Amino acid sequence: MSSSTVTSVPSMEKESLNPYEIVQTQIDHAGKLAGVSKDVLDILKKPKRVLYVSFPVKMDDGSIRVFEGYRAQHNDAMGPTKGGIRFHPDVNMDEVKALAMWMSFKCSVVNLPYGGGKGGVVCDPHDFSKAEVQRISRGFMEAIADIVGPEKDIPAPDVYTNAQVMGWMMDTFSRMKGHFSPGVITGKPLILGGSKGRNEATARGCVFTIEEAMKTLKKPMKGATVAIQGFGNAGRIMADLLAAEGCKIVAVSDSKGAIYQPEGLNLQQVEHLKDTASILEDPDSQVLDHPEDLLSLEVDILVPAALENVITRKNANDIKAKIVAEAANGPTTPAADNILFKKDILVLPDILANAGGVIVSYFEWVQNLMNYYWSEEEVNGKLKDMMVHSYQEVHTMAEEHKTDLRTAAYMISIKRITAAMEARGWF
Ligand code: NAD
Repeated sequence: MSSSTVTSVPSMEKESLNPYEIVQTQIDHAGKLAGVSKDVLDILKKPKRVLYVSFPVKMDDGSIRVFEGYRAQHNDAMGPTKGGIRFHPDVNMDEVKALAMWMSFKCSVVNLPYGGGKGGVVCDPHDFSKAEVQRISRGFMEAIADIVGPEKDIPAPDVYTNAQVMGWMMDTFSRMKGHFSPGVITGKPLILGGSKGRNEATARGCVFTIEEAMKTLKKPMKGATVAIQGFGNAGRIMADLLAAEGCKIVAVSDSKGAIYQPEGLNLQQVEHLKDTASILEDPDSQVLDHPEDLLSLEVDILVPAALENVITRKNANDIKAKIVAEAANGPTTPAADNILFKKDILVLPDILANAGGVIVSYFEWVQNLMNYYWSEEEVNGKLKDMMVHSYQEVHTMAEEHKTDLRTAAYMISIKRITAAMEARGWF
């Protein structure tokens, strides 16, 4: 992709870090290039529905605490809405709306029969006992039960929620409906109809896109150096999978800090320390004084796998990686996108790169509806087919329009959702 014809997202005068404004900028930019009219883009720039809820929860000490939460459903032209539920103190309506919108484009770029949704409860689950987290999970599901369901809106895990939380929520919904309803939620424990391969799916899918991108750049995976920001579900499993492909993981970070070893980290040792103490105690690597310096290390592949807005106008010029693989949602701002494109850095956009999670969530839902379950090999094989095919489609679109992969991915998904809305007679 040449940087001579820059058609990536235009920089905004003042860099906005509000994800709702960012996604609207991305829609405008890609929608215009895709030839979609302003009227139709106006439909896509707003979620169809956002539910605000508050619900009381009895705490272990007998007191009552009121929690607040949201569920946003962006667009259901292609099917029921789908997207995670996060438990985080910073959850707010704009964030949930933006995340629901990203889910619509993510589902559509990999051609799933879903629209986008997202939910969240304003809380930090680390502050509560397991029993309290269970009551918060059940309280939230009860509060949103009218608008979710296997044919309406299907939640999944997100930041600080997990398979156990999904199990409690599924149980609450099933009790309310009077029958076992595993298809209401994905990312469940295997015993309750979860899918084999779901836990690793986001990381595995992201690795498939990296492999395709390395082929595009005609670079071998073996020996490629990697820095990973975030060492949770996505980042940690990616470290293992990339190492298994022969890559050298030279730096990782978590909320406590970042470690660097140019000869390659001893991953087993670092993972053991993550589980028992802190990665910063790794005796064989150097702790970076400024953890964010991990982003500007001289590596082949940079994987943001933690937070939003970590690559911005301020630091984009310092990025030296050849590939930025967005395991996290929204790590790069539009202004930073522009800078990276001009520097010929290949950004694998979140809506494509981390779609493996929702793809295997879709497989889970299909298995629940059929009541027939697949082997892990079958799941991983189908995931690979979908990720590789989607990457190729996005890459071809980017070549045709001489644009970045994010814009190309949005163009494909906006066109698909628009076609579905048109076929349904929405305009
Ligand atoms: P997680 O909670 O399992 O892990 C997050 C990691 O980020 C933790 O290791 C945490 O310590 C680290 N972290 C937090 N603040 C940090 C900081 N300032 N610097 C460096 N690291 C920091 O979450 P996850 O499921 O791995 O999700 C990570 C990202 O991937 C999120 O943006 C999420 O939306 C996205 N994502 C996850 C999935 C999935 O299936 N898990 C799917 C799609 C997208």
